[in-house]
Amino acid sequence: MAAQRGQMVVMSGPSGAGKSTLCKMLLEDPRVRFSVSATTRKPRVGEVDGTDYFFITPEQFRELVRKGEFIEHAEVHGNMYGTLRKPMEDALSRGETYLLEIDVQGANQLKALGEPGLYIFVAPPDFETLRRRLVGRRTDPPEVIERRLKKAEDEYRERVKYDHVVVNDSLERALGEIRRLIGLD
Ligand code: 5GP
Repeated sequence: MAAQRGQMVVMSGPSGAGKSTLCKMLLEDPRVRFSVSATTRKPRVGEVDGTDYFFITPEQFRELVRKGEFIEHAEVHGNMYGTLRKPMEDALSRGETYLLEIDVQGANQLKALGEPGLYIFVAPPDFETLRRRLVGRRTDPPEVIERRLKKAEDEYRERVKYDHVVVNDSLERALGEIRRLIGLD
């Protein structure tokens, strides 16, 4: 008998809102699978090709776009990012919860396609906290942080388009809320 179709879960939110940490925590549940996006961005220290992202060249990215391999793709902070159609379809048909960590442009594209799923926006408690988190992360130079903060403010306005806004005031609390929304608990 075919498995019941799985659920697509889209998580967006400004960088530094704790989205990635929450995704990692969610992935400890064996029923949840992560959508490994393709990107033209260079890997950060500690990032693993094929696990965090598929790190590819702009030429390779364009080729995948041309072949229709992405269900959505967008330019974020000067780099290209895209969600691969095939692994998502396979996971959903196996009945898995498929977790996409993508930006608001990508989420808007999926919504426009009528892709059923749970759309969650992870919000920082406030922008001062967000600035502190981005600076404390020490992964990006100051001008990149400023760019990310500006984008964060723009992204924050888009939260109304999501099914749920989860404020990341505490990781454990936010995780519990998201797990309940997905139906894992
Ligand atoms: P980062 O470079 O910090 O890993 O990600 C930058 C932004 O790109 C984040 O907002 C992240 O959610 C978004 N992103 C990652 N993968 C994808 C994707 O496949 N599609 C879209 N539209 N955005 C993505």
